Amino acid sequence: MLELTDVSKSFGDTTVLRGITLALPNGETTVILGPSGSGKSTLLRTMNLLEIPESGRLDINGDSVTFGAQLTRRQISAIRRRSAMVFQGYNLFPHETVLDNVAMPPALNGKADRATARARAVELLESVGMGHRLEEYPDNLSGGQQQRVAIARALAVEPDYLLFDEPTSALDPELEAEVIRVMVDLARERRSLVVVTHNIGFARRVADRIVFLADGGIGFDGAPEDFFASDSERIRRYLNVFD
Ligand code: ADP
Ligand code: MG
Repeated sequence: MLELTDVSKSFGDTTVLRGITLALPNGETTVILGPSGSGKSTLLRTMNLLEIPESGRLDINGDSVTFGAQLTRRQISAIRRRSAMVFQGYNLFPHETVLDNVAMPPALNGKADRATARARAVELLESVGMGHRLEEYPDNLSGGQQQRVAIARALAVEPDYLLFDEPTSALDPELEAEVIRVMVDLARERRSLVVVTHNIGFARRVADRIVFLADGGIGFDGAPEDFFASDSERIRRYLNVFD
């Protein structure tokens, strides 16, 4: 379970998250929706401690931190190891091959020896349809291919939760589809996914749960069928944009 309890985060005078409480069980796909600027990235980044809130608490499968007090390095790294992030920009190491991009993180953080990490990286790259480009450099790949490598890299560190922040927003529809296909496979394997996206089709097809952020709070938290049938004016206004 990934749990946020009464989490609040401000930037200067702007309160972005107001006492957010959420519990995301293992093995589910949660899609976070909401208008631009509603705090989706901040919420996701909090789960990986890329943002540190002023107050509240984060628990992931037995590791926990309470915000407000100084966090130790040990606490931060314990929580960070529980999840891996896939960003909108692919964030691959440009001077490393595809294979090294995926094999290096687990080798460096001591999760596997070099040979094991490489063998596992090959398997993961095959699973995202990139097994034929192992020795390629990121610049020579399409955006969709780079993003699939980024997903393999996130999987390589064996996180409990995979966190996606608008992973397809920079892609043309065709390339978006190939990345979404990989994400659908992960959801069907019952990985624990938390996905910020504007891809409503993905949300409809595979979300176990929708969290809708509005004005710093949770405007909805529940089943997709209830979300898409909601007569909340705020939610209708948001969804109308996609019709
Ligand atoms: P979303 O991902 O839903 O578009 P964000 O979480 O990125 O929203 O941002 C929510 C609000 O917080 C926005 O008003 C944004 O300008 C502000 N914000 C986000 N990050 C920072 C930052 N590092 N410094 C100042 N303001 C920020
Ligand atoms: Mg964002």
